[in-house]
Amino acid sequence: MTSHAVLAIGANIGDRLAALQGAIDLLASSDGVRVGAVSHVYETDPVGGPDQDDFLNAVLIVDTDLAPQDLLAACQAVEHAWHRTRDVRWGPRTLDIDIIAFDEVVSDDPDLTLPHPRAAQRAFVCIPWLDADPEAHLPIDGPVAHLLSHLDTEGVRRRPDLALVIPGAVR
Ligand code: ATP
Ligand code: CA
Ligand code: CA
Repeated sequence: MTSHAVLAIGANIGDRLAALQGAIDLLASSDGVRVGAVSHVYETDPVGGPDQDDFLNAVLIVDTDLAPQDLLAACQAVEHAWHRTRDVRWGPRTLDIDIIAFDEVVSDDPDLTLPHPRAAQRAFVCIPWLDADPEAHLPIDGPVAHLLSHLDTEGVRRRPDLALVIPGAVR
């Protein structure tokens, strides 16, 4: 059975664009994962955590045959390939991949909370998500376009000079 998942990717250490593109490439080559759409690239002010450099953020839509926990394991394997460490909560990172939504699944499991519990408050998630899927909605919270109308979008700046590509996609 194929499921539809929304992934938010972010990086603020090293070659940030290479990390985001690397994430797409590795996810696309993971068994049972197909990348269907990718957003524009945004430069964003860090939210929470210590003083740190700006992020690049984007959102991917994937089709997957994996169960939610297995998709999380695949995402964590890709983070690991980019030497992601977890020293400080919300600290700087080479690569972060969050599962924002997985079909209409709602779960409060702390190891995989669905939808992502902070997605609805994050303009750096909602703005790129709407690029990748203009009809985007969150289970329970509803249309992302409506959520976004209540968010401060000041710290989220599109980078028209940067782009991400889906491997094998015809452009
Ligand atoms: P935030 O979740 O606020 O964006 P973060 O991305 O910095 O913070 P991490 O250190 O990457 O947090 O993840 C901490 C734990 O969150 C992970 O070990 C993972 O098991 C758990 N987690 C719970 N729900 C999700 C989800 N929807 N997507 C990814 N990880 C999740
Ligand atoms: Ca995150
Ligand atoms: Ca994360």
